[in-house]
Amino acid sequence: MDDDNSAGTASRYLSWWLSPGSESCCACEAPVHAEALAYCTACDRSVCMLCYDDKAGHGIILCPDCRREQTEGSI
Ligand SMILES: [Zn+2]
Ligand SMILES: [Zn+2]
Repeated sequence: MDDDNSAGTASRYLSWWLSPGSESCCACEAPVHAEALAYCTACDRSVCMLCYDDKAGHGIILCPDCRREQTEGSI
């Protein structure tokens, strides 16, 4: 239901790793290259660069589901 593609400012920066590949993201289910995937540190599912969260800069990758759980659980 929530659509973050409103601005579209990043669309011009789309590169090969965002083109369809053989792997898929657990969150958005987009077909992506393996090089564009990371693995959630909590559930170990593959998640694409557009979906995982590393805002903390600690190399801790969380898929949207786990990020939501952590956000709700930490408050
Ligand atoms: Zn994704
Ligand atoms: Zn996860």
